[in-house]
Amino acid sequence: MTVTERYDYVVVGGGPAGMTAASRIKRLKPNARVAVFERSGFVSYAPCGTPYYIGGLVDSLGKLVHYTVDEFRRRGIDVYTNAEVVEAGQGFVRVRFSDGERVYEWGKLILATGARPRLPAVRGLDLEGVLTLRTLEDAERARRHVLEALRVAVIGAGYIGLEVAENLRRLGKEVLILEILPHVMPTLDGDMASLVEGELRRNGVDLHLSEGVRELEGDGRVRRVITDRGAYEVDAVFVATGVAPEVQLAGRLGVKLGPTGAIAVNRRMETSVEGIYAAGDAAEAVNLVTGKPDWFPLAPVANKMGYVAGANAAGGYAEFPGAVGTAVTKVFDLEIGRTGLTEARAEREGFKPVPAKIRAGTRSSYYPGAAEITVKLIADRETGRLLGGQFIGREGVLARVNTLAALLMRGATVEDLFFADLGYAPPFAPVWDPLIVAARVLLRELRGAD
Ligand code: NAD
Repeated sequence: MTVTERYDYVVVGGGPAGMTAASRIKRLKPNARVAVFERSGFVSYAPCGTPYYIGGLVDSLGKLVHYTVDEFRRRGIDVYTNAEVVEAGQGFVRVRFSDGERVYEWGKLILATGARPRLPAVRGLDLEGVLTLRTLEDAERARRHVLEALRVAVIGAGYIGLEVAENLRRLGKEVLILEILPHVMPTLDGDMASLVEGELRRNGVDLHLSEGVRELEGDGRVRRVITDRGAYEVDAVFVATGVAPEVQLAGRLGVKLGPTGAIAVNRRMETSVEGIYAAGDAAEAVNLVTGKPDWFPLAPVANKMGYVAGANAAGGYAEFPGAVGTAVTKVFDLEIGRTGLTEARAEREGFKPVPAKIRAGTRSSYYPGAAEITVKLIADRETGRLLGGQFIGREGVLARVNTLAALLMRGATVEDLFFADLGYAPPFAPVWDPLIVAARVLLRELRGAD
């Protein structure tokens, strides 16, 4: 085994977590030799922007790259793209480039390998025009295909499926969504998801729920989707059926996985093997509502994990406390936010969830332009602790879901929320904010009296 170079730190994966970790290490230890190996052609890119590139709202892929490879190199980080780590062992990685394989040694290793699309077990996934969305290369390929398509099927009505569906409609495409579950967005409760379903249908999306795909058919190129209920002629198919953590290298290194299947880490992002850290979508984090290990494949969590892993690897001290699963998205004109546990999940986790759902105006009733927001809050009957919340409306979702998220991270009760000192002025909120109104209804439910 001929070693090409020796690095103090090797980061596997140049996504948000990997690049944040590498930057942190270089900042704290300017003389350290740091390398990043990235399988795709880009590092430090914003995968969350790709649906908007497909729809043409973002007009160039370059805008989705925060810093280029050259910018990192100028900072003294050796970034290798189109460089896949194919083998790893104690102190070394073997990397495949287009012109062959090379071996590099490391002193400390950061696994930021991310997640990959989880594909359903159906025939025809290898047909041309069957698309997934993860990297910028995926986005480029997808845009090329959909521009010439008339009818596009989207399999899976989660975050990617719905964001892609909206952008396909923006391009004037006929859009068919096939979702295997009885409602869209499994991170919402069914009663809230029905508001999203209405918005999709109002915007011309042909939405099919409880419909599983059996096979994709074509003549080299995809032409038909066969489901358990019918067959549909299509020109392209997006498969957005969820993601799974990329943990193959971790397995080869003897790094332990946790109950979710992602890499088990402590609060310093240390894995079970000394000198090896994990961060981002490949790693678990504590769910601060359940207190158990959980998996949050979300960009803000990944970035922070990278920051903490980098700081600790470089000899500093930082802890990542965990997360509550806060996510927001937009589906046509609806803003959607969720944090903590859904009512269904709270039940499964052994809580005694009490829900309260209200509809209220987003601004003072006399102030022009107010929209409606639906708020669902969930609390535990026994302790009065907040467990989660969901928000859907045409404006004002982000501030409210963020407020609740911060409280959830601190184990707050419904009463804490009711008395939270929130901002008010007629253009932004009614004097009794919808969040406070929901807390008031929940208090009544919990106490059984007015
Ligand atoms: P997802 O988990 O959000 O949704 C997957 C959907 O596919 C679910 O509704 C699921 O029921 C459905 N599904 C699974 N198997 C199916 C099958 N065989 N047939 C039909 N439907 C099926 O996953 P995603 O949309 O692929 O997104 C990937 C990850 O990216 C998510 O975990 C999310 O955290 C993240 N993401 C977040 C945002 C955001 O926060 N705004 C945006 C994009 C992506």
